[in-house]
Amino acid sequence: MTVNALRKSSTDEEVISLSKTLIKNWKKFLSGSSTPNSKDSGNSSKKTKEKDEKPKETENKEKEKEKKQPVPTTFPPVSSNTTDAVRLKCRELLAVAIRGDGEIPEGCATPEELAEELEEAVFHEFRNTDMRYKNRIRSRVANLKDVKNPGLRMNFLVGVISANKLAVMTAEEMASDEMKSLRNKFLKESINDAQLATVQGTKTDLLKCGKCKKRNCTYNQVQTRSADEPMTTFVMCNECGNRWKFC
Ligand SMILES: [Zn+2]
Repeated sequence: MTVNALRKSSTDEEVISLSKTLIKNWKKFLSGSSTPNSKDSGNSSKKTKEKDEKPKETENKEKEKEKKQPVPTTFPPVSSNTTDAVRLKCRELLAVAIRGDGEIPEGCATPEELAEELEEAVFHEFRNTDMRYKNRIRSRVANLKDVKNPGLRMNFLVGVISANKLAVMTAEEMASDEMKSLRNKFLKESINDAQLATVQGTKTDLLKCGKCKKRNCTYNQVQTRSADEPMTTFVMCNECGNRWKFC
C-alpha cells in the first residue's frame, strides 16, 4: 500500500514504473504461495490443521505489530513535493500557461514538471504564499500566456531560460525584445557553430534534458524541409541519451 501510494503521488516515470513492477512481483509471489495452500485445504488431516493454525497466529501477531507501528504518512522529503492547496493551485495555473496551445517540443520536460520547478523557485524566495508570492505567480502566468510574446514560453520549454531565472524576472525583462529574440539569437549562433561543427554536433549547457534535468546536451541542426523554413534542431542528452527536436 505504501509503494502504491508512492506510485500514485509520484510524477517521476522511473519511480512509477519501478513501483508497478514491484507490486506486480509481490502479487505474483502471493498467488504462487496460495496455490499449494488451497491444495492442502483439501486434505483434512489433523496434522495439516495444526500446521495451518500456527501460521495464522503468527500472521495475526504480525498484523498487530503493524497496527502499533505508526504508519508513515510522508515519504522521504522531496523538495518539490507539497500538499499546500495554494501552491498546488499555482502549479496548475502555471502548467496551463506553459502548455499554451499545446505545441510542446518533443523530449522536453512536461508543463507540469516545469510548473513545479518554477513554483518551487518562487516559493523558495518568499517561503510563504502571501500576496507577493501570488503576484509573482500571477505575473509569470500572464506573461507565459501572452500571445504577443510566445518566445518566453518556448524559451522556458526548451530550457534556454531556467526556472530559477524566470522566477525572478521583471515584467519588462519577460516582455523584452531580448527575451523574444533570445531563442532566435541562440538558433542563429548555433547555426554558425553548426557550420563549423563536425557530425558529432555542438555541445551546449543552454539546453536542459527533460528526462534527467541535466544541462549537458549536444545538438545538430538540419534543414529538414525547404530552405526558407526554419532549421530543425536535434538535441541529444550526453548524460542519459534522451533525444528530442525543436525548430
Ligand atoms: Zn538526460
